[in-house]
Amino acid sequence: MHNYNICDITPFTLQDFPDTIACIIWFSGCNMLCSYCHNLDLVYESEKRLSIEEVVTFLQTRKGKLEGVVFCGGEPTLYPEILELSQKIKSMGFKIKLDTNGSKPEVIHDLLPYLDFVALDFKSTELKFLEITHSKLYSKFEESLDLLLSSSVEFEVRTTYHSELLSYENINEMINFLEKKEYKKRYFIQPYITQLRFIKELPKSVVFDVSKIKLSTLKIGIR
Ligand code: SF4
Repeated sequence: MHNYNICDITPFTLQDFPDTIACIIWFSGCNMLCSYCHNLDLVYESEKRLSIEEVVTFLQTRKGKLEGVVFCGGEPTLYPEILELSQKIKSMGFKIKLDTNGSKPEVIHDLLPYLDFVALDFKSTELKFLEITHSKLYSKFEESLDLLLSSSVEFEVRTTYHSELLSYENINEMINFLEKKEYKKRYFIQPYITQLRFIKELPKSVVFDVSKIKLSTLKIGIR
C-alpha cells in the first residue's frame, strides 16, 4: 500500500524554509494517518517516482539560484535512501530542512550532520495520539524531540490545531510538556484550514482563541 518514494519537486518557495530560498522535495508514504492529513493524495495515492539522479540533475540547474532544499511529505524519513540523498544535496552546497512527524528518531539521528533545520510535528498529548494519528508512535516522537533538544541543529515544534480533535486543555498540557522538556525555541500552533479532502469527515474547526492558552515561558506563535 505504501510507496516510499520521491514523488515530486516544487522548484521554488520562500515560505517553507526560514530565511532561505528553497525548493521542496516531496516524499510519498507515511506511517501515520492523521485525521486532518493535508496531503492525502501524496501520502497514499502517488504513483510518481523520481530517482536521486533526477533530483541531483534538477539541483545542478539551480546552483546559485536556490540556497536550500526542504524535505516534505508524507514522511521523508521513511524513504530508504534519505541518507544518501542528504549527503549528495549537502555536497552540492545546499542547506537542508526536514519536515517530520518524528516517528523515526534513529533516521533523524543519522541525518543530523546534514540538516540545517528541522520542523517537528507535535501531534497531540500522549492520550490522544492514537485517536489523531492512528498510530502508536508517541514514544518515537518524544525520542525525536529529546534528540533534537540535545543537538545543535536549529528546529521548531509545531502543532496543527482542529477544535474537534484538540481542546484548549490539550494544548495547555502540550505546552506544559514542552516547558518540562525545557524547550526554549518557538512553539507554533497552526489552526487547521479546511481542505476539500481529508481522511475523517471533520466539521469546520472553530477559530483558535489565543486567550485560552495558558501563560507560558514558551515563545508561542500562531500561523
Ligand atoms: S504525519 Fe503528516 S503526512 Fe503523515 S498522515 Fe499525518 S498529516 Fe499526513
